[in-house]
Amino acid sequence: MQDSFGRKIDYMRISVTDRCNFRCRYCMPRGIQTSPMSDILTYEEIIEIVTIAAQCGISKLKITGGDPLVRQGITWLVQELRKIPGIRHITMTTNGALLTLYAKNLKDAGLEAINISLDSLDRKVFSEITGFDKLDNVLAGIDAALSAGLQVKINSVLQENCNVDEWQALLNIAKDRPIDVRFIEMMPIGEAKNFRSVNNEELLAKIRGKYPAITPDTSIHGNGPAVYFKIPGFLGCVGFISAMNKKFCGSCNRIRLTANGMLKPCLCFAKNFDLRKILRETNKIDRPEKLALTIRTAIEAKPQAHSFENEELVSEYRKMFEIGG
Ligand code: SAM
Ligand code: SF4
Repeated sequence: MQDSFGRKIDYMRISVTDRCNFRCRYCMPRGIQTSPMSDILTYEEIIEIVTIAAQCGISKLKITGGDPLVRQGITWLVQELRKIPGIRHITMTTNGALLTLYAKNLKDAGLEAINISLDSLDRKVFSEITGFDKLDNVLAGIDAALSAGLQVKINSVLQENCNVDEWQALLNIAKDRPIDVRFIEMMPIGEAKNFRSVNNEELLAKIRGKYPAITPDTSIHGNGPAVYFKIPGFLGCVGFISAMNKKFCGSCNRIRLTANGMLKPCLCFAKNFDLRKILRETNKIDRPEKLALTIRTAIEAKPQAHSFENEELVSEYRKMFEIGG
């Protein structure tokens, strides 16, 4: 369906857990509390929401978290979501550390593509950012995803005074393999307020300096707001997700379901719609209509744009691992 600014909203990001096997310092630092399992939506509840959301026009899903691979039975969920009439594409974002175990089964369950977050190829820096010495597991996970036939994208968040100089090494992943490497500007949510993001405009200028023949690539690469460029001789593209320096709200197509069942119209603002309450407090007969009404109201409530450039207006108080990114 369309929101009140005429944007077609057909994409839902679903956080299936707020738990994670990493502790990325800008997302989920050590010592943080996760929710009791009773607060987290069951798979049956997620399926019920998606069934109604599909009737409201949602056709594309991204499974996220926390890390979706730490939740047991995730492959089953993908398989069941795939059966819902109207759901045409399911993708996932993960830190990749467990992908060697799950890639093939996820592909067989109907997952089409996977985004793997990787901020550093330097073992020490990787451990500093994520809290774990698991770089090799993630690299093996990338190989496993490719071997399973999943489309793979790498998501890298570059920070000043940390991994900013790694853009070349990360970009090289796209050289010999059909993997898009995307650089994501860090948004000032939760812990990330304490770190300084790289400016993607400046990064593109650096990449252009090294590869003057780089050209925009207008083919469709997925559901999201990334802007892509092709570098001659590279199999994959380089993408930029520049929420801070190049707002893309005019083409926003998404809503977000948090692990505890809150539907969020926009990442920047705390406003959310409590679907868990409807699921748990409404009888089975009235639920579909109530869910549909609330999903439609949430879509209509999407603001025209985020306000990340003006931190005083950012009302979201939850951290990224709770929302799903
Ligand atoms: N654990 C999975 C992963 O790391 O891909 C899924 C959840 S994670 C919250 C999704 C993505 O959000 C990751 O690529 C992560 O780097 C990114 N992220 C986390 N905090 C962010 C922030 N403040 N601004 C921009 N991206 C952020
Ligand atoms: Fe976990 Fe992903 Fe957050 Fe890192 S970015 S702590 S992997 S949820």
